[in-house]
Amino acid sequence: MEKKTERYDVVIIGGGAAGLTAGIYCGRARLKTLLIEKALVGGLATYTNEIENYPGFPEGSSGLGLMDLFHKQAKKFGVEFKLTDVRSVDFSGEEKIVETFRNRYVAKAVIVASGGKPRLTGAKNEADFLYDKGISFCATCDAAANTDKTVMVIGSGDAAIEEGMFLTKFASKVIVSVMHEDGKMDCNEIAKAEALANPKMEFAWNTVVDSFEGEGRLERVVLKNVKTEELTPYTVDSCFLFIGYLPNTELFRDMLDMNRGGYLLTNEKMETNIPGIFAVGDVRDKFLKQVATAVGDGAVAGYAAEKYIAEGEVYSRQILNEGGPSFVYIYNAIDPAGRELLPLIEQFEEKHKGEIPVSRVDVYKSTGIADKLNVSVFPSAVLINNNQVVAVLEKDINEADLEKLAAKLG
Ligand SMILES: Cc1cc2nc3c(=O)[nH]c(=O)nc-3n(C[C@H](O)[C@H](O)[C@H](O)COP(=O)(O)OP(=O)(O)OC[C@H]3O[C@@H](n4cnc5c(N)ncnc54)[C@H](O)[C@@H]3O)c2cc1C
Repeated sequence: MEKKTERYDVVIIGGGAAGLTAGIYCGRARLKTLLIEKALVGGLATYTNEIENYPGFPEGSSGLGLMDLFHKQAKKFGVEFKLTDVRSVDFSGEEKIVETFRNRYVAKAVIVASGGKPRLTGAKNEADFLYDKGISFCATCDAAANTDKTVMVIGSGDAAIEEGMFLTKFASKVIVSVMHEDGKMDCNEIAKAEALANPKMEFAWNTVVDSFEGEGRLERVVLKNVKTEELTPYTVDSCFLFIGYLPNTELFRDMLDMNRGGYLLTNEKMETNIPGIFAVGDVRDKFLKQVATAVGDGAVAGYAAEKYIAEGEVYSRQILNEGGPSFVYIYNAIDPAGRELLPLIEQFEEKHKGEIPVSRVDVYKSTGIADKLNVSVFPSAVLINNNQVVAVLEKDINEADLEKLAAKLG
């Protein structure tokens, strides 16, 4: 099947908090922006019933409600949405390719915001009961179906305990399997105190899941005591796994730099190792994975992508001068040495008017053009012809050197 090709300034992969924020920034910068989401726009945050720590909502907000506002704002700024999954990418050329089942999207920049997926326990028969067969990852989605039932929660981090407490509003009993010693949990102290005081919550300390059992649907979870190896079957209606997440980065393996856990590595501008490819939110290696930090990442990447595209246009139109001769003075505006040479550059420009176009590039805000020209010493004067760097002068540039440079054009 011949795929339809469409062109965008920016393609965003993933419609969670990070991708939607990047979309708001790109859309507002009037970039033609496409966001591709394979499941639910809003991402993982929609799984949670209550978000209490996102600033601006002192009464808290449901994850779904909050993400709906992000979505509306991105649409308001003209971001286009496609509900399908990205199957492959090719970031090797200047133009970035993102492919879905039916379409091929060509973009000047791509923002990877693909987040993570829930980690599994690896216990026996787990795959047989995932999602609608009794093992769930979303209390908001499945709590009502467990009204007056017995459920199990695996894990003791913030998500496990907070979502477990939410489940007590519906279920008659919530058994929490914790791998640590009695009373030791990974969640914050407030959640821990509330959970321990909750009469509907029961704790199975020092345990991990050994197997999931049932006829067609989950009926029992067998827990193993990590100290005694004793196996105890618990009859439950559902089991909720909250034992962490794995990054959705399979598509980018051997392409984008990652840490050992598969999280993408970026600098503070959210740039990956490939120019024009940015990564934001839970998919990247960072200290705190939350909605607030996903929003910060998205804002930075949206802004950085805009600068990258604008620089790319200046580079191809002005700096490369359609293959003709071009002179570029690259300096840092906060460095006096760079500023002091500006009158000399002006004099050179005047002398060679109509012969060599002169551009000035300040690397203070971005080194993008300098990077494209492979220049890392500032100030530098670069002569370009036939789309190639002909010669570079560094640091102590004087009039005679500039003239020698110009003479290279013959
Ligand atoms: C139960 C729970 C409770 C939480 N509670 C809080 C809280 O109280 N406060 C807080 O700040 N944070 C909370 N978080 C964390 C918060 O949800 C995340 O930090 C946030 O969602 C990260 O946003 P993101 O955009 O980086 O990734 P995600 O929200 O994971 O979004 C990534 C999106 O990319 C999509 N995607 C992946 N691969 C592809 C592909 N190939 N093609 C197309 N789309 C793709 C996914 O479908 C997904 O929608 C909670 C998380 C959970 C699970």
